[in-house]
Amino acid sequence: MATTSATPLLRDRRLAAARVLAAAETAFCRVPGCANATSLHKPYCLTHLACSPYVRALEAELSRRDAEESAALDPRVARTLDPNGSRAQEILEELGRRGPQTFERLAHALNVPVEAVCGYLRALERAGLVRTLRMASRRGGYRRLAELRAARSALRTAS
Ligand SMILES: [Zn+2]
Repeated sequence: MATTSATPLLRDRRLAAARVLAAAETAFCRVPGCANATSLHKPYCLTHLACSPYVRALEAELSRRDAEESAALDPRVARTLDPNGSRAQEILEELGRRGPQTFERLAHALNVPVEAVCGYLRALERAGLVRTLRMASRRGGYRRLAELRAARSALRTAS
């Protein structure tokens, strides 16, 4: 089956879009001596992307998160974790969005080790923001669940 070529109107739109893109690419990198053009009016070229305040802030935040995650993995340090840290806040958001969850599911959702989730939850629990509970599983053993403290939940602690 032969495909029909683009309609003239669609072709005009594509040309217009291409012209807009070309115009957007006339900016140049702000690093002195660098003649590289940048795309979409970004201030720095790909080579000098690290000069951007945004990227610097992002890198600082990432290394802070890495340090925090290492702390979360260490039970002796986990208690000093900041419940207002970005990972801890992500855990709160996740629990707010999906309700009570197992530690494993939280770890999967946030892409961090379960041991780190334990650390964050310990800090959040100390801050009175979450509650953790053990649920007996059908296969014997138990599952550990976390839930927001303020949220009304169908789960009951087996005390
Ligand atoms: Zn550059």
